[in-house]
Amino acid sequence: MTVDDLEQAPPDAPLGSSGKWRLAEAHDCLQCGGRATVAGVVAVPGRGRFWIDRCTPCMVATTSSCGRPAAPLEEVLAALRDAALEARVPLHVMTEDDRHG
Ligand SMILES: [Zn+2]
Repeated sequence: MTVDDLEQAPPDAPLGSSGKWRLAEAHDCLQCGGRATVAGVVAVPGRGRFWIDRCTPCMVATTSSCGRPAAPLEEVLAALRDAALEARVPLHVMTEDDRHG
């Protein structure tokens, strides 16, 4: 994939994860072709700004942790449980064992 495969974004589009209004439109994930659920903007020197449309799994798979160590799984799950409790929404975590067991 090259920058020529990307759709031009407005010159004033904020960089990074943004573009909630773009998600109201249907765009394909650049990685897998599914429905994009995350819209980001990147600047290409001399070319302008471009949309980076991805589905959530592809966004997670292609986002760098910026060199920081990943939080332990137990901490991530605890944060998810706390957020679900606070939002009063049910949360069910599936593991690989659940999928194959
Ligand atoms: Zn995808």
